[in-house]
Amino acid sequence: MQDDINRRQFVAGAAGAAALAGTLAAGAQSEEKSEKPPRKMTILGVSAHMDDCEIGAGGLIAKAVRKGHRVVLINMFSDYSTWAVTKGREKEIREKLVAEAQRIGVEKRFLGGGDAQVALDVETMRRVAEVVVDVKPDITVLHDRNERDRAPSDHATVGAIAEHAVRSANLLLGGLAVRYGREMYAYEVNPQRDFRPDIFIDISDVLKEVVDSINFFDALYAESPYAKGWAGKMRSTLKIHSTGQELALGCHAETKISGALFRGKQCGLHFAEAYRAVDPMPLGRRLLEKIL
Ligand SMILES: [Zn+2]
Repeated sequence: MQDDINRRQFVAGAAGAAALAGTLAAGAQSEEKSEKPPRKMTILGVSAHMDDCEIGAGGLIAKAVRKGHRVVLINMFSDYSTWAVTKGREKEIREKLVAEAQRIGVEKRFLGGGDAQVALDVETMRRVAEVVVDVKPDITVLHDRNERDRAPSDHATVGAIAEHAVRSANLLLGGLAVRYGREMYAYEVNPQRDFRPDIFIDISDVLKEVVDSINFFDALYAESPYAKGWAGKMRSTLKIHSTGQELALGCHAETKISGALFRGKQCGLHFAEAYRAVDPMPLGRRLLEKIL
């Protein structure tokens, strides 16, 4: 009986409070929405050389993988025959890169061509565009097209190729304009005078993953008799007192850590990774904020 009264009261009440019911319904809906697991996104990284993405964007990649997002890395110069350190063991290098990619939870796409052999032309952009249309990235990290100081011009060339390929992927392949990878962020590989970052991310919690990933490449280079003295050797140890963590650093990891400390100082973090947003976007609308 009590149930019946409650039910009658509820029905009458509901009829007289349509607006409120509407509000509640909308509220319930948004509550439901917020309970949905966040959408898994695809992050595309584009690099000239085999280690650029891991050096420039290793923190972002580790964080995205940790949250279960898909990460695909394009290695533009990937026949490895134009560098004495990798020449003659191209197949072995490729296999080791694939195994390492599996270990860290990313996919690699190899587009062939040797260092400085990739031209800034439409044909090259189309090859990158094919990957873009295939993987449909939400976010793309790429070289800064202005990175020239003491860096191979390959970085700037591939930065320009990637930016155009992502922006106009479908058009380059003869289709209609469809936007993929609408958020693009330029990363820094070598310290640059003119790199002006406007996005900083905290990489303190993934520092070990970043360093391990970068040390892998130095060890790979060290297997060659042509490797210079720095390759493969651990040159210093970073001890973080707040966590007790100790990390052995090879040549490139040292560069990464020094940059991460510098960028951290600029934005009030201990270790940070810096990016330049290729296109301006308002706060709260960035997919980037959801993957970190
Ligand atoms: Zn490079």
